[in-house]
Amino acid sequence: MDFTVLAVFTFEREFVSVRVGLESTIAEVNKVLCEKWTSLSPLSIELSFVRDGMKNLIQSDAELQSLAAYVFAKKLQTVDICVGVVNSSVCNAIVVSEVCNSSSSCVQDEDGEVRQPLKSSYWASLLSSVNQTFSGGAEQFRAAVLKYSIETGFKVKMTKNDKVRVTAVCGLKDETGCKWRVHASCPPRLPSLFRIKRLNSVHSCGSGFRDMKHPPMSKKLVKSLILNKVREKPLIKPKEIVDIFKSDFGVTLNYYFARAGKELALKHIYGDDVLSYSNLRWFVDSVRRTNPGSNVVLEVDPGTQGKFKGCLLAATGKNGNEGRLGMFYLVGHVPRHG
Ligand SMILES: [Zn+2]
Repeated sequence: MDFTVLAVFTFEREFVSVRVGLESTIAEVNKVLCEKWTSLSPLSIELSFVRDGMKNLIQSDAELQSLAAYVFAKKLQTVDICVGVVNSSVCNAIVVSEVCNSSSSCVQDEDGEVRQPLKSSYWASLLSSVNQTFSGGAEQFRAAVLKYSIETGFKVKMTKNDKVRVTAVCGLKDETGCKWRVHASCPPRLPSLFRIKRLNSVHSCGSGFRDMKHPPMSKKLVKSLILNKVREKPLIKPKEIVDIFKSDFGVTLNYYFARAGKELALKHIYGDDVLSYSNLRWFVDSVRRTNPGSNVVLEVDPGTQGKFKGCLLAATGKNGNEGRLGMFYLVGHVPRHG
């Protein structure tokens, strides 16, 4: 029997939906969650759901698949899954040692101390198989290709790159004939169905060199990785973003990308400056139209820095006795980011 159900994962009052079925794995789910919430790492995620008032942890692929089967059998539309962070005290040396015994994801520094793996440690496996879907469309796929390149050190280049299809080949293809290649596409106007159609995941060009000082990068990738940080702290400085990239992903981020990525993140969170200003003009017209006799003034302060300067919007209206009363005033200020 082949089926999937919609699981809604919630973390800090945000959610992301993922279809899960009998072949889903926690590793796949964790990848999606780490993409969505960059403060998470696969080792820190705790998944749980509540049934009959009891919290039930989801700790294995079998438990995840059983939950999907239960939801399907009950004909429920969705299942809510809480995303928590494992108590950091649990992630101590004992647990880390066990992880180290079973994988090579932990590293020792020069002093012999075990360090937690970087949050980018799973990026090497982001391009896993044909039919892998990127619900965020071409942008999410391009970010995955870049992350793969950063983490593995293999250079890649895009030979096709638009909203409905992206092809990436090995950056050394011409010199070495390396056949590494990934191609993904989606039907027109259905970006959520962006999926890998062809994948040759073997490099014959040699081994990758992880370039920590000059990693491949894009503004959009920086934006996606710092979105939550900017949401928490809109006045975050580019220098702080550079530091986050060093500690979380082990790479030196160029100051230009830190600044440009922050601008994109602010635009994503607060909307476009041009659109906001247009909305303000529309609002003024609307108040005038629906409140005849009222006085609405939109003033622009040329002394304020920023493209649209400071805006002061004030309105007064008539009450039933023809007296004047103040209705509202707004002060807008477009800050200089950076
Ligand atoms: Zn190659």
